[in-house]
Amino acid sequence: MKLERILPYSHTLMEKAASNGDIVVDGTVGNGNDTVFLAKLVGPTGKVYGFDIQKEAIERTKKRLQEEQLTDNVELFQAGHENIKKYIPKHFHGHVKGAIFNLGYLPKGDHRVITKPETTIQALEQLLDIMAVEGIIVFVVYHGHPGGDVEKEALVDYVKNIDQQKAHVLCYQFLNQRNNPPFIIAVEKRR
Ligand code: SAM
Repeated sequence: MKLERILPYSHTLMEKAASNGDIVVDGTVGNGNDTVFLAKLVGPTGKVYGFDIQKEAIERTKKRLQEEQLTDNVELFQAGHENIKKYIPKHFHGHVKGAIFNLGYLPKGDHRVITKPETTIQALEQLLDIMAVEGIIVFVVYHGHPGGDVEKEALVDYVKNIDQQKAHVLCYQFLNQRNNPPFIIAVEKRR
């Protein structure tokens, strides 16, 4: 298959947005896969701010980072991403180059704890405020679980209405796959 699959494409978009020394965000660290990827992407001179409301997710991510010796440039917060702006130091506001959110529930965790439309949109609004111009926010939208369709609809509806002078909004989706496959919404800040 030549078309890039959803998860690799989410990383390709992050690679376009950020590189060595940059400030990036993992809005839903979960099992730490994206956190590890981002820590490698920005390197020892960069910084990753990672968020998750579940202690289990923070612990699993910490362990992954320790195994890969990537703890130095990552700061993890057991906190909701709806408070992102508060946790990122003021001197980095305007300099965040990339952010990634895998929506839904923690794999091998409690499936009842899911990302929610209101808080996901609050995180997006705050990030748009503190991103650098040409910074990219990627949402990998899982929507097959209970509540997932509501979040998907709210987010799609919200991003469709972002002023095109303010941001470019992309949807990357396989249209003929069965069983509610995830898709990507990417938002690139323009001004
Ligand atoms: N990116 C992760 C990985 O690589 O393993 C997977 C993330 S998982 C699909 C979604 C995560 O979002 C869960 O761990 C859940 O606890 C977390 N979450 C739910 N609501 C949140 C919120 N308001 N702020 C931050 N994290 C949240």
